[in-house]
Amino acid sequence: MKKTYKIDVDCANCANLMERETKKTPGVKDAVVSFMTLKMKVEFEDGADEAAVMADVLKNCKKAEPDCEIYL
Ligand SMILES: [Zn+2]
Repeated sequence: MKKTYKIDVDCANCANLMERETKKTPGVKDAVVSFMTLKMKVEFEDGADEAAVMADVLKNCKKAEPDCEIYL
């Protein structure tokens, strides 16, 4: 299952950081963050609770880059 989220981040470097943190989050199979479109595509593991996983993703991204935002 794949979902796309709108994000806010100040530069391509931070977008890469967000992508790395998202990929490391349990329940995420794969993630692609695009600074050009300010979107994040997340592929979840089978049976993952999307809402819970995305709450962790947001927490991890904020730890790496406090100024980023994911619109859940
Ligand atoms: Zn930045």
